Amino acid sequence: MTASDLDWVFWSLGGLLGVIGISLVAWALLWDRPRGRRRCAKCWYNMSGTPGRVCSECGYRAKREKKLFNTRRRWRWVFVGILVLAVGYGASVTPRVKRSRYGWPGAVPTVVLIAMVPWLNPGGVLIGELSIRGGRDEMWPWQQSWLVGLWIERCEQTADATLRADALWLLGYIGPEARSALPAVFGAVTDDDPKVRGAAAYALGMILTDHRTSIAKLIDLLADEDENVRENAAWGLWKFGAEAEAGVPALMNALTDESGEVRLMSARALSRISPDPEVVMPLLIRTLQNPDHHPLRIRAILALVELGPHIDGVMPALVSALGDADSKIRLMVIRSLAEMGAGASPAVPALIEIVQDENANLRDWAVYALGAIGPEAEAAIPALKELLDDEDEYRREAVREALEKIRRESDD
Ligand SMILES: [Zn+2]
Repeated sequence: MTASDLDWVFWSLGGLLGVIGISLVAWALLWDRPRGRRRCAKCWYNMSGTPGRVCSECGYRAKREKKLFNTRRRWRWVFVGILVLAVGYGASVTPRVKRSRYGWPGAVPTVVLIAMVPWLNPGGVLIGELSIRGGRDEMWPWQQSWLVGLWIERCEQTADATLRADALWLLGYIGPEARSALPAVFGAVTDDDPKVRGAAAYALGMILTDHRTSIAKLIDLLADEDENVRENAAWGLWKFGAEAEAGVPALMNALTDESGEVRLMSARALSRISPDPEVVMPLLIRTLQNPDHHPLRIRAILALVELGPHIDGVMPALVSALGDADSKIRLMVIRSLAEMGAGASPAVPALIEIVQDENANLRDWAVYALGAIGPEAEAAIPALKELLDDEDEYRREAVREALEKIRRESDD
């Protein structure tokens, strides 16, 4: 049973309990109207045949005649109904709470979260939950436009730059559905505060509509005095991909930026927009070989993967990174190779060596990558067979799976 099948069970259960709960409350509050009967307001004895206002059953004296025509409200059942409703609500939000990175905020209804926006603390869990829901299509269109409206207001009217920047990030999380905020985002591009300009670049890349103007604004931001803003601008152009061809000259310029982050992000953007290996390869290889630049090296690997295995120099660079001193870099490369599939076949000999590595995590990923490469990884069969007597059952199963992929596809 998949997760979404289970979600369906929770939602139906929640819906069913909701209907039962509401019916119960409505019945308990409204059902037993007087309908012309005179009844004791205490024991509900029918006093139609009893003159006067004193109940012959329990002795209760009604102060006024009107008191004898009360609707009987069954408060105990109202309470039970509310309890059923609460359990139903709990069931219907269970999938969301389980999925939420924040836990209990997953139980708060979206409408309540949005209504609380003006008072929410920027770094808080409720804002976090709201941003996740906004980006995951868990909102109705009217909720989304209400939320976008609130963020636009904050962008345009708040004096606090941190709050303005925050609103832009959150608009970004919403993505293309926040396109009505683009005028506000365009306005933020010339904000005095670099935090706001950087967030504007991010929002442009996430909203990803109105291509021409957005790309022109990103090109402006790529010449910003603040390096974070420039990096986000390069990232935004990367997001637009081939559409951002107008940004190529500015990105080429940024390859010599004083900030390594900006250089690398620009190289990634170029690899995606108009791959010209002669322009970006030297920069990527130089970065990959500089042991001081851990985060940059990760990004260099991503850029190489984006260029693709068929580009001259990409596979040799990745294969040599498989022998890197840093195990995190090695892991990153192996996972990238697994995603490339058959194109990663030049890395087979290096992966075979890793299959015998001491590091179990690297070994597991290498096994997986060899399976993903398929028949081209035939040379790995003997090394993989040696792993079939591993103590761990799951590992043996993973090895068998990889062997199957390598063999099956070569038989066809
Ligand atoms: Zn009575």
